[in-house]
Amino acid sequence: MLQKYEKIGCFFCLLTFELLDSIGFIDLKVLKTQISLENALGNIQNRHKKIGFVPTMGALHLGHIELVKRSISENDVTVVSIYVNPTQFNNSEDLEKYPVDIDSDLEMLSKVNCDFVFTPSFEIMYPQGRSVLKLDLLDLDKVLEGEFRNGHFEGVVAVVDRFFELIQPDKAYFGEKDFQQYLIVRELAARLYPQIVVVPCEIVRNVEGLALSSRNVRLSIEKQKLALCLYKALMMVKSQSIIEATELEELGKQFLKKQKGVNLEYFKIVDAFTLKPSRANDSIGLRAFVAAEIDGVRLIDNMELK
Ligand code: AMP
Repeated sequence: MLQKYEKIGCFFCLLTFELLDSIGFIDLKVLKTQISLENALGNIQNRHKKIGFVPTMGALHLGHIELVKRSISENDVTVVSIYVNPTQFNNSEDLEKYPVDIDSDLEMLSKVNCDFVFTPSFEIMYPQGRSVLKLDLLDLDKVLEGEFRNGHFEGVVAVVDRFFELIQPDKAYFGEKDFQQYLIVRELAARLYPQIVVVPCEIVRNVEGLALSSRNVRLSIEKQKLALCLYKALMMVKSQSIIEATELEELGKQFLKKQKGVNLEYFKIVDAFTLKPSRANDSIGLRAFVAAEIDGVRLIDNMELK
């Protein structure tokens, strides 16, 4: 009996889906292969429409959705990629525990009327025989995350290079949550894809200030409260007037070292564009960066100092 109802239920679900799709309510198209991507985008490029691209690793939250909305508002079509790129993980446990929730991702993208979601396989992203890209990134990849996550930016550059080649967007949207990544991708685009505009998007935080991150779901509510200390440290140094960068750094470090349960990796204040130490003492052009581990979850944040 139950089986019969289940079958009838499924039939109606299918019917509703087809009906909604046919009248244009379900616009999100999932592209899994290179051919389907080329077919979908080939038509658009021929029609001279603008393509916006938002690369993600899924487990979407409102931070990602802000990038998607911005792309939708500035382009004719938006492609979001969902791909957990193994080559940018230096820690296999972090990769294994990376959250995945494709149903929720599709629902969120559908709600904001995103056009395409591209979910490629490893074989599409790393085809056999493709040579490893070697780029001089002006040492942007050697500091901060580069120092603590060996090989991370090589993985980022490889995957973004392949996405740019496959999608050829007009604009690509990156969050300032990963400010160093944004600078590196901007450098990659300037060298190899000068036609692509790399657009930085502001960090989206929860009401208390914690930067939204897919990894936050691995923290208990209590640990999420503790994680707020990253934001508090950044705000504290930002509120100081006219102290040298090294003194500000020390203030931030001391504050974070006092927090029980927080394993500080780095707290650095550097030039916002070269990521090199700066002697400026009026905070202009400086940015503070922090990375710490809480309950086995690695978190990063950063803030412009003015
Ligand atoms: P991810 O899925 O973590 O690789 O992130 C995909 C993109 O979303 C990257 O450009 C991130 O910088 C951006 N992003 C992630 N979290 C946030 C946030 N809280 N605010 C703004 N952008 C974000």
